[in-house]
Amino acid sequence: MISPTLFIDVILPLALPKLYTYRVPMELNDTVVIGKRVVVSFRGNKLYTGLIKTIKETPPVDYEAKYILSVLDDEPVVTERQYELWEWMASYYMCTLGEVMNAALPGGLKLQSETKITLTEGYKDHTKIMNDKEFLIVDALEINNIITLDEVSKILDQKTVFPIIKGMMDRGLLLIHEEMNTKYKPRKMIYVRLSDAYADKNLLSKELDLLGKKAPKQAELLMSFLKLLMDNKDLREVAREELIKYADSSTAFVQELVKKGIFELEEKEVSRLSNSSQDVEDKLELNEFQVQAFQEIKDHFQEKDILLLHGITSSGKTEIYIHMIEEMIAQGKQVLYLLPEIALTTQIINRLKKHFGNLVQIYHSRLSENERVEVWKNMLNKSTDKSVTNISVILAARSGIFLPYHDLGLIIVDEEHENSFKQYDPSPRYHARDSAMVLAKLFHAKTLLGSATPSIESYYNATNNKYEMVTLTKRHGGVLLPGILLVNIAEEKRKKRMKSHFSQLLLDEIKIALDTKEQVILFQNRRGFAPILECVTCGWTPHCINCDVSLTYHKANESLRCHYCGYVGKIPKSCSACGNNDIKMKGFGTEKVEEELSIFFPDAVIARLDLDSTRSKYSYQQIIGDFETNKINVLVGTQMVTKGLDFNNVTIVGILNADSMLNFPDFRSFERSYQLMAQVSGRAGRKQKRGKVIIQCQNELHPIIQQVLNNDYEKMYAQELLERNKFHFPPYFRLIKLTLKHKDYNVIDNGAHQLAKDLKQVLGARVLGPEAPLVARVRNLFLKDILIKIEREASIKNAKKMIMDAVTNFKGLSDYKSVSVHIDVDPY
Ligand code: ADP
Ligand code: ZN
Ligand code: ZN
Repeated sequence: MISPTLFIDVILPLALPKLYTYRVPMELNDTVVIGKRVVVSFRGNKLYTGLIKTIKETPPVDYEAKYILSVLDDEPVVTERQYELWEWMASYYMCTLGEVMNAALPGGLKLQSETKITLTEGYKDHTKIMNDKEFLIVDALEINNIITLDEVSKILDQKTVFPIIKGMMDRGLLLIHEEMNTKYKPRKMIYVRLSDAYADKNLLSKELDLLGKKAPKQAELLMSFLKLLMDNKDLREVAREELIKYADSSTAFVQELVKKGIFELEEKEVSRLSNSSQDVEDKLELNEFQVQAFQEIKDHFQEKDILLLHGITSSGKTEIYIHMIEEMIAQGKQVLYLLPEIALTTQIINRLKKHFGNLVQIYHSRLSENERVEVWKNMLNKSTDKSVTNISVILAARSGIFLPYHDLGLIIVDEEHENSFKQYDPSPRYHARDSAMVLAKLFHAKTLLGSATPSIESYYNATNNKYEMVTLTKRHGGVLLPGILLVNIAEEKRKKRMKSHFSQLLLDEIKIALDTKEQVILFQNRRGFAPILECVTCGWTPHCINCDVSLTYHKANESLRCHYCGYVGKIPKSCSACGNNDIKMKGFGTEKVEEELSIFFPDAVIARLDLDSTRSKYSYQQIIGDFETNKINVLVGTQMVTKGLDFNNVTIVGILNADSMLNFPDFRSFERSYQLMAQVSGRAGRKQKRGKVIIQCQNELHPIIQQVLNNDYEKMYAQELLERNKFHFPPYFRLIKLTLKHKDYNVIDNGAHQLAKDLKQVLGARVLGPEAPLVARVRNLFLKDILIKIEREASIKNAKKMIMDAVTNFKGLSDYKSVSVHIDVDPY
């Protein structure tokens, strides 16, 4: 039989609206499988790795298909289920499959011409079995350290080098180079075992005698090896590294024994998961409220697929998750446990590791790309090899939804209200909580959302029978919720009782806490020292040269910084507008709080937790760790201090300026303020002592402040719903935001009006704007927003199609070709 001519649709890592079709050279027919990577050229000579999406026998109609250059994988790296999720995301979030693929695949699986490679730490162990081309690459890397795949092409004088590179990566010779260098443990290890000939004990002991006389070091090594085997009955082989360490020997002596035919070496893939040998502990016994909640959850899951666990801070939601996970594992199912990136601390990781040991794997941005690939590959193939632990639980930030699961039974979305589950840039602008529910559905799995302060949408769905709900109203161990005290700072100021940014009450309470060796958390919703500088005479403030935003003063390096583009400016000696040299700071941020507090409490150890203090990779963990172990007395921070941390010695929480959050111009600012204040308050209190929260504000009668004071989520929710209904916001309306960007103001102004007009023709009054956003110029590009509000009952599919058509049409106009249009579905 003649084999057919095959064509494949390939997902390329580009924002192309359609998949590109390539032709398969006949000799590769047997190797193309959906989900494998292929190397193709696109737009001239640029090489990309793409993914095989479909295989067919019909050529494209409007262009001549180019041949694929090679197939990279022996086995698919993406599953059909993953494709289903990607397709949902591309359609729901109005983006391309290529963009979803870019977000989904770890960098190590995305080879491109510009990809940089470098040698692994242990590459020398693998150089014995290299061919000439590989030798050339290693040689170049030994000289240059880092080279791109393009350069490799030139060195080898051949076009397709991806397969060679991939092969070398698989063997542990090469790594994708990452800017932020992280430690990499090689995936492969060399194992030592006795060759079959020496299974004969007599022969072995003869050889030992012989060695003892001629080569005592080798004899010692062999003895150590045999001892290791004796100590561990199941063991037939030992990692070379381990053996050398145990025997205090070296590779050279191992090599000698290999030469003599006594030892055999084998390179094997090792899972880093089985490296840690932690003792697995039993889980805690649930308290009576947890027992009840746990039972209710399981009962509800008989009927419904999504459930909201509304449990106050420290009610022990995590314990319930642990029990749920255990049941899933017992059924042989996988669990995805999603947390906001920032809440993925060693605290929670250790808590899960303690119970589930190597069954748990972590997946988040602090892993290196190569480590991510390793997790991915481990997940891809359920191993039947007993010595390999199959991952059962993934503890992850939002990108955890992209892993190749095979048997997902439950997704937990902890702190489901957190807005960091939403990716803003780049596209796909997805919400991990919402996408997780779709992922769960693909597996007929359950979704458990958890929060002390649910998002309005989730609570709405839970009270309208779309989800089930279970509540926990008691903190574990009878610990009381903290008492909340309000301080009116306007009044305190009038009475001249404010000391800098602190009320007398707050200072007194801090003092008491410090005197009794208890800890304090201070929350200020801003970073930097004093956000802006202002001319006392004319009110001028220094602005970013690229963005329409004032620069923030940072004391640590005496600089002015733009929080939008990273521009760093010098501190002006005089006003650029009027020349006066009296320039003062206005407002205050975390850095300033930290500094002033140290004047009042010179003996206290004060630390700061915000974006600036946690730039380096492990600084966040470091600060949290020091606070946990009482090396820090007072922690001053932004939002970061509110994220699901469990400290047991904090008795005072101070919120320095509650109004700054409430006044933020966003329809969610009340909801978010409530969540932030309730969450940060939840850090106070411990077993023996009720905590205190001191809220400093301008208006203590503000409804949100009152609702926080009374711990009245329901009331906040009811009031918000009224507003949302009245002003057409979620959950009653869906929002889609279009952002236009261009360097020329006139182009964007005219363009935005044009597009808005086109949209209004089909969608009418649902289209708002165009409007300039709060910061109307970023990185030298002018911005315009168009907001579209669509009733929940209307067909969102139709609306999206109309929007897409209008945008496509707009982009086709010659005047506006260079305007970029970002589409953001559920933008807030
Ligand atoms: P949440 O996730 O609801 O904020 P956690 O699960 O973190 O609450 O529990 C708060 C604290 O109470 C933790 O220190 C946890 O170890 C402890 N705790 C919760 N449930 C139990 C239990 N059943 N037995 C013992 N300790 C518990
Ligand atoms: Zn800027
Ligand atoms: Zn001035």
